[in-house]
Amino acid sequence: MARSDYEVVIGLEVHAELSTKTKIFCSCPTDFGGAPNTHCCPICMAMPGTLPVLNERVVEYAVKAGLATNCEISRNSKNDRKNYFYPDLPKAYQISQYDRPLCEHGYVEIEDDEGNLKKVRLLRIHIEEDAGKLNHDEYGGGSLVDLNRAGVPLIESVSEPDLRSAGEAERYLRKLKSIFEYIEVSDCKMQEGSLRADVNVSVHKKGEPFGTRTEMKNMNSFRSIVRAIEYESNRQIDVIEEGGTIEQESLRWDDVSGRTFPMRSKEDAEDYRYFPDPDLVAIRLSDEYIQDIKDHLPELPESRKERYISEYGLTEKDANLITSSKHLSDLFEGTKEVSGSAKLSANWILSDVSKILNEKEMEPDQIPFTAEQLGKMIKLIENGTISSAIAKKVLVELFENPADPEEITKAKGWIQISDEGAIKDVVMQVLEANPQSVADFKAGKDKALGFLVGQAMKATRGQANPQMLNKMFLDELNK
Ligand SMILES: [Zn+2]
Repeated sequence: MARSDYEVVIGLEVHAELSTKTKIFCSCPTDFGGAPNTHCCPICMAMPGTLPVLNERVVEYAVKAGLATNCEISRNSKNDRKNYFYPDLPKAYQISQYDRPLCEHGYVEIEDDEGNLKKVRLLRIHIEEDAGKLNHDEYGGGSLVDLNRAGVPLIESVSEPDLRSAGEAERYLRKLKSIFEYIEVSDCKMQEGSLRADVNVSVHKKGEPFGTRTEMKNMNSFRSIVRAIEYESNRQIDVIEEGGTIEQESLRWDDVSGRTFPMRSKEDAEDYRYFPDPDLVAIRLSDEYIQDIKDHLPELPESRKERYISEYGLTEKDANLITSSKHLSDLFEGTKEVSGSAKLSANWILSDVSKILNEKEMEPDQIPFTAEQLGKMIKLIENGTISSAIAKKVLVELFENPADPEEITKAKGWIQISDEGAIKDVVMQVLEANPQSVADFKAGKDKALGFLVGQAMKATRGQANPQMLNKMFLDELNK
C-alpha cells in the first residue's frame, strides 16, 4: 500500500515548568542552574519525617493555564502518589494527580495542514513535581544525583490523539507554548528543559481502527519533534508493510543519527500503584476564586491578533505570525512605541529579524537586542540618518553585539551620505566612467539609470542617500 493510504495519529504530553519562585512542596528556590544540591532542603531531599505543604501559587498558575485553554476547572481535586523507583526520585514516588486533575476537557485552536482552523482537544492539565537529575561521573564511572530540580512544579498538559502530521504537532506545541508565555505561568525555555514533550505516535490504514502507539520521551526542540515524528511514522509503516506488528514501547530519539531506539521503559501505567497522598489535604476551589483568576487573565494571543488588525492595520497573516510568540509580540509593541510606526516595525520583525532567526536556528526568546534598540534603528532610517541597506547591517550587528544603533553606525562609519556636494561628486565620477550607460539612457533605455545608481552605491559602500542619488542622476542626464 502507498504511504498516503496510512493516517498518522499523534498525541502530546507536554510538561511545562512553572515560573513560581519556590518549589511545589517546600520553600527552596526554583532557579535554573546552581551548584549541585544547593537548591534543596530536607523536604525535597525526602528525609524521613518531613511533610509537604502545597504551594498555593502552583494551583493558581495551573488554573490560569486551564482557563486559557478552555478547560473546566475542578472544584474538588487532590494529589496522588505515583510510585516508581529511579535514582533521581528520592521519595521513590512522585506527587502528581491521578483521577482528579485540576483541569479537564479543554482545547486549543491551530491551523491544520490545509490551513483550516482545527480544535485540538486537551484531555487534562494536572500539577506534579519534577524529579532530580543524574550526572554521569566521567572519572569514577558512576552516577551522581543533583536534587536542585526535585520538587520544581510542573503542569502536564495531555492532548487527545487529534494531531495528524508533524506539522500539526509543531503548530500545536507552539500554540501551547505561546499561551503559557502570554499568561506568564512558565518561561517555556526549551533549551533549559522548562518545556518538554512526550510524543505518542501511531499509524493505521485509513478507515481502520487506530494502531499501536509508541512514545518518544522528553523531547525539547521543535526541530527534533518534527524529525522524530516523521521518522517514527515511516518506520511504523515499513514494519506493517513488511507484515510485522508494532510493539507498544518507549523510544529514545537520537538527534545525531536521526532515528529512534527502544528504551527500557520505567514501568507500565498500572504498575504505578497510584493512591491519594495522605500527607496532603484535598484541593477545594470556590467559584469566586476561579472567577477572580479568570477576571485577571492577561491578554491572550487571539485578542492581541484582533487588536493588531483593527488598530494597526496589519494583515491577518502578519498579525498571526507576530502573535504566535509572546516574545515577538512584545518586541513588536515595544518597537512600535519607540519608532512610531507599526507598519515598519512589523515589516522589520517579519522579514529581516525572522530571516536571521531562521538562519541562526534561534527562537524569538533568544533575541539578544531590545525593542528600544530595534525601534531606534527604524527611527534612524525614517529621519534619513541611515539607508535601509545600512540598517540591514546594523541589524546583523544588533544580533552579534547589541548596542545603541546610533553608536553602532557612528563607530562603523555607516552614516548615510546626504550632503549634496558629496553626492554630486560621486554622480559626476560615475557618469564620466560610464559613457555607454549615459548613451543608453539617452537612447531611451531606462534600465541604465538603475545601473548608474548601483555604481554610485557601490562607490559609497551603500552609504549614499538613494533618493538623492536618483534625483541627481536624472537632473544631470536630462540636462
Ligand atoms: Zn526543598
